Amino acid sequence: MPPRNTPIDLTMPFKKRTTKREPRKKVKAKTLTAPRGMEDILPAEWPWWDRVAEVMGKIVEAYDLRRIETPVLERVDLWKRGVGEGTDVVEKEMYTLRTKGGEVLALRPEGTSGIARAYLEHRLDKISSLQKLWQMSPMFRHDRPQAGRQRQFWQIGVEIMGGVSDPFYDAQTILIFERLLQDLGLVNVVLKMNSIGCRVCRPSYVRELEKHYKKHAKELCENCTHRLKTNPLRLLDCKEEGCVALREGAPNFLNKLCSACSAHFASVLEYLDELKIPYELDQSLVRGLDYYSRTVFEFSVAGPGEEVGALAGGGRYDYLFEMIGSKPMPAVGGAAGIERLIAAMKSQEVTLPKKKDKRVFLIHVGEASKLKMLGVIEELRKAGICVAESLSKESLSSQLKVAGREGVRLALIFGQKEIFEESVIIRDLSESTQETVPMKRMIEEVKKRLK
Ligand code: AMP
Repeated sequence: MPPRNTPIDLTMPFKKRTTKREPRKKVKAKTLTAPRGMEDILPAEWPWWDRVAEVMGKIVEAYDLRRIETPVLERVDLWKRGVGEGTDVVEKEMYTLRTKGGEVLALRPEGTSGIARAYLEHRLDKISSLQKLWQMSPMFRHDRPQAGRQRQFWQIGVEIMGGVSDPFYDAQTILIFERLLQDLGLVNVVLKMNSIGCRVCRPSYVRELEKHYKKHAKELCENCTHRLKTNPLRLLDCKEEGCVALREGAPNFLNKLCSACSAHFASVLEYLDELKIPYELDQSLVRGLDYYSRTVFEFSVAGPGEEVGALAGGGRYDYLFEMIGSKPMPAVGGAAGIERLIAAMKSQEVTLPKKKDKRVFLIHVGEASKLKMLGVIEELRKAGICVAESLSKESLSSQLKVAGREGVRLALIFGQKEIFEESVIIRDLSESTQETVPMKRMIEEVKKRLK
């Protein structure tokens, strides 16, 4: 063996092999799969995603929301300060990495903190102190995957940042998510509402809550025993049977709110009543993240679709800006999980609106006609006509079969004869009729038939 890093002299003849080579063991290459809890969105799924984007697109216009996208990685401190160190999201679920430059970054577990950071960094308040923003992007939480819970999932987020802490905007945020669910065709929508107070009333409420749960410390699940020290409010939304039972005797925050929080919450509910949006008060609704104050809400559906869990949720977060190092600034927002919206739509057998297929299917017979196809596609594209094809298939019948599978209505057939005569056969696949027209009139004839 030459010593390491010594270049091999390729001019030297290779030594003749004297030993017999062992027969190679066949090692089957391991099939690679997506990381656990992360899903591909396959072509067949996209009509559902497009529908969600389309409905949201209309809502965005109606409510004058501006799109914002932030990096998928942020400094880990943003999440620690914004979401809170004692939260499950930060403590257990973050994908954290150290870059080659030594920075510690984390994959975005939620959208709000990044948007707040961008608001401050780019001084969006200079444009207008009230910013109505929305985002549609993937989030990452290293949670235990199960139905309706992935490690990578997409959220539509809506944030109303700046201005004054007005219950009007709490109600408008809730209305936006209510519209989204309704316009997607979901029924039996349930809205749960609660208030988790402010710095004035929360500490004394939390002390009372601790007192209640300390009396039952031995009956708490392992998670709640830990939460009692780090984030006592979260004891209220534990799903373990024993902890759910202990909620019975727990103090209700709505009876302990200070007068300002009480008036704020009453006003939010008044707006909802005015909008005729039904809601349930739920004292166990506290949400997982530290930055919430006052109003918290959550949407789900009852009956088919409820198995996916909450579809959307959010609340007011008047302290977030301070927590990430700015002056206090009121804000309210929420997020809906797109995978869950789609799963609920499927469970409720929502049908997608039928779209008229505006494509034509290009068919060639023979090499000479294939040569012309790129030019024909270009001509059709310039005229705004969408083209599908399966030019790798040779025979007319196999190409027609693909066109049938694709559900395309018109096929344009180019054989040797048509190329020679500068014409094309336009075949209506749904009616099984066809006509030969001169190439010059191809666009005009196709448009006429697609109308
Ligand atoms: P959150 O950011 O926890 O307030 O969640 C807002 C919404 O995002 C929820 O109501 C769900 O629809 C969705 N969501 C949250 N976590 C997950 C997850 N692990 N997998 C899928 N969707 C999720």
